[in-house]
Amino acid sequence: MSERAGTPFHCPFCGETDLWPHEAAHGSWECRGCLRAFQLKSLGQISRNHTSRATTKEAHA
Ligand SMILES: [Zn+2]
Repeated sequence: MSERAGTPFHCPFCGETDLWPHEAAHGSWECRGCLRAFQLKSLGQISRNHTSRATTKEAHA
């Protein structure tokens, strides 16, 4: 997989912006605020049809 997530702007746990690359795993980051390590990863692409299904269904009803 060549798809890589970008640099996170803030920690998803505490909101701290003091983030550093985590050495243990590729694409992972560590927060110096709450001392957590976390990973950003893509789960693949979503379907546009799938996301708009609820609104189109409403329009036809
Ligand atoms: Zn944090």
